[in-house]
Amino acid sequence: MGVNTFSYIFIFCLAASIITQWVLVKRHIRHIRANRAQVPAEFSDKIPEASHHKAADYTQAKVKTGLVELIIGSVILLIWTLGGGLQFLDNYVRSIGLAEIYTGTIFILAVFLISAILDTPMSWYRAFNLEQSFGFNKMTPKVFFMDMIKNGIVALIIGTPLIMFVLWIMENSGSYWWLYVWATWLVFSLLMMWAYPAFIAPMFNKFRPLENEELKVRIENLLDRNGFKSQGIYVMDGSTRSTHGNAYFTGLGANKRIVFFDTLIDELSYDEIEAVLAHELGHFKCNHIKKRITVLGSVFLIGLGILGWLINEAWFFNGLGATIPSDYMVLVLFMVASPAFTFFMQPMFSAISRQHEFEADDFAAEQAQTENLITALVSLYRENANTLTPDPMYSAFHDSHPPAPIRIAHLKNKFA
Ligand SMILES: [Zn+2]
Repeated sequence: MGVNTFSYIFIFCLAASIITQWVLVKRHIRHIRANRAQVPAEFSDKIPEASHHKAADYTQAKVKTGLVELIIGSVILLIWTLGGGLQFLDNYVRSIGLAEIYTGTIFILAVFLISAILDTPMSWYRAFNLEQSFGFNKMTPKVFFMDMIKNGIVALIIGTPLIMFVLWIMENSGSYWWLYVWATWLVFSLLMMWAYPAFIAPMFNKFRPLENEELKVRIENLLDRNGFKSQGIYVMDGSTRSTHGNAYFTGLGANKRIVFFDTLIDELSYDEIEAVLAHELGHFKCNHIKKRITVLGSVFLIGLGILGWLINEAWFFNGLGATIPSDYMVLVLFMVASPAFTFFMQPMFSAISRQHEFEADDFAAEQAQTENLITALVSLYRENANTLTPDPMYSAFHDSHPPAPIRIAHLKNKFA
């Protein structure tokens, strides 16, 4: 296969992103080790030393695993692209002799299937070694494999018609195909957001309406005060997979719901649960979901616009190890290779996300007692063994939520 200038640019960007991530992880670990001995002063009365040590050890183990995953993933990426793996697979699927649209659909599904199989050992390691050794894992091998099979079936049922439709658009709508594909993606994403809580999530977890009357009344008051219409408040059996606790806000339109992990309900007082709920409601009140769709949609539109140009450039295909240009190959190359180019945008996305967390915290502090939100956050960070002392640069790249000390200082400054 041929190597061209674009191959070198690709290798350079991939190497730059790996080296950067490596350096960030090293910094992060050094920072955590340096602060392991002592609980930060402002938390000394809230977090026992043992929890602080556990958070330090767990975080280090987690980021080291992430680094190994990054290296393995990059080797697989190079085999797929410059190693000619994708072209090899394409040749094989082409040899069946089907029409282009079917060849493309089978090819894309095969890439997904092979990637999922290659990911399995790492996912297994994460659940049954990493999480297990810190006492977080509750998943059994049976649940692990059932999840895989269910995920596969859902992806096949939803993905197959979507892939066929996108390839059909590409073949039949001229040079502005990328605009139609973008619109399809947008409609599909909104549809999935609407359908996910009601139809897909229940295949993996059990959801029961929140039954505790006292808590329910308090929560309904909070929702009514804010004009929030939802399908209800649910408790999810997160404890079947992990002891990590969380709460989230999901769905669209009439399908909106608020979900608490059962593990969270068990850990927090009613006051704290109300404060956490107010935070989730804050995301809704501040239009964070719409803002996220807007940002993602713009990035995606630019990406697809670039793809509309690249599809006619032989150097793009050849530079990534594909010798036969096609509609489906351009999609797959774009999907597998773009993280090497977009990695350096990550601090921007993380910063937006952290900004949204501050806004939701502000809202929650106005609606509930600031002190309740703070104690809830401390329990959450403690129970999930999140480090209190991340490296600031690592955090800027990777943290979608502000580190606990910054988040709590923000609340105290504003509302104390
Ligand atoms: Zn949040």
